[in-house]
Amino acid sequence: MSADDGNEQAGGAEPWRPETTAIALGRPPAVPDGPLNVPVSPASALQAGGTSGYARDGHAPWQALEEVLGALEGGRAVTFSSGMAATTAAMRLFDASPVIVAPEVAYMDVRRVLLESQEAGRAQVRLVDVTDTDAVLAACDGADVLWLESPTNPLLGIADLPRLCAAARDGDLLCVVDNTFATPLLQRPLELGADVVIHSATKAIGGHSDLLLGAAIVSDDAHLRTLRGARELGGATPGALETYLCLRGLRTLPLRLERSQQNAAVLAERLSEHSEVHEVRYPGLDSHPQHARARGTLGGPGFMLTFRVNGGAARADALLDAVRVFTHATSLGGVESTLERRARYPTERGVVPEDLLRVSVGCEHVEDLWHDLEQALESSASAG
Ligand SMILES: *Cc1c(COP(=O)(O)O)cnc(C)c1O
Repeated sequence: MSADDGNEQAGGAEPWRPETTAIALGRPPAVPDGPLNVPVSPASALQAGGTSGYARDGHAPWQALEEVLGALEGGRAVTFSSGMAATTAAMRLFDASPVIVAPEVAYMDVRRVLLESQEAGRAQVRLVDVTDTDAVLAACDGADVLWLESPTNPLLGIADLPRLCAAARDGDLLCVVDNTFATPLLQRPLELGADVVIHSATKAIGGHSDLLLGAAIVSDDAHLRTLRGARELGGATPGALETYLCLRGLRTLPLRLERSQQNAAVLAERLSEHSEVHEVRYPGLDSHPQHARARGTLGGPGFMLTFRVNGGAARADALLDAVRVFTHATSLGGVESTLERRARYPTERGVVPEDLLRVSVGCEHVEDLWHDLEQALESSASAG
């Protein structure tokens, strides 16, 4: 069942497409009356005589999820208890006192943990605008690590991943790409030369806002060993129920993405024509600053968008109170559409405008979503 065993794709058959991989891999051996899914198995101690013996050292249900995630990204996956656990484990791959080139706009806690390592004297961090390829390449001179996120959270900036990953490889920088917003269906950074792909599987991979889980995916054997060691000794192991739910969610990622992306494209288009809204950002819109790059490098524009509402933060907050189909909540990538005002977080002030709403578009009917936004825009008008 492990990724090492290969799968039905072996033997020169045509490789499976992601829709099939997401469903067909990570299954228990076919035995009469056996289950089709690897069962939820809460366990700490395991029967002696196997390769693990203790669940922190490795647990069969993780392998099923890792097999699917690894195949989708084209590498070997190591799962963790959260996206941040995967992020901090990936930092174990750095040399001592590294110079790290990192995005000035990125998931706020990733930026925080990188900057904390600088404050503690363990690293030097060069923050860059990842959409400005020349600036990133210049910052890479003499650096050890290139940490990328694209599309960026929350501003949906698009980095030129093919060029940047190739440059990192040529310059011998360790290249890490947080692929949470794109998912492996829209972008596969390992194929472009990245060394590590990070996912917050809490988001679109799990897809139902009911679990925390993370993954780091690599191709190099030494990196794989380091990450597994980081999990074993760091102790950030995924829970049994979370692992089960995450794989169950991952089965439908291709379906969910198709719908949420279609919905997002319609909402972005309509919002950009609405008189009470300005600066709609969505990689699929012509007006997006890296629209052409997104078309060239991403398999689709994704399910995230941002917009600003006329009337400032007060109007934006009133809109959040007025939505009925959308949920006012953080996080993203669920079947349920959510939105929030990012500047409500102190660490996001100065990065995003006060009135910017980040929207994660889900799988509801697009007309219900649109009517909800329309009525919320209308009923919040007096708050501006
Ligand atoms: C949410 C998120 C993370 C952190 O993941 P958790 O599962 O919340 O720990 C990392 N990167 C990005 C881009 C995210 O959106």
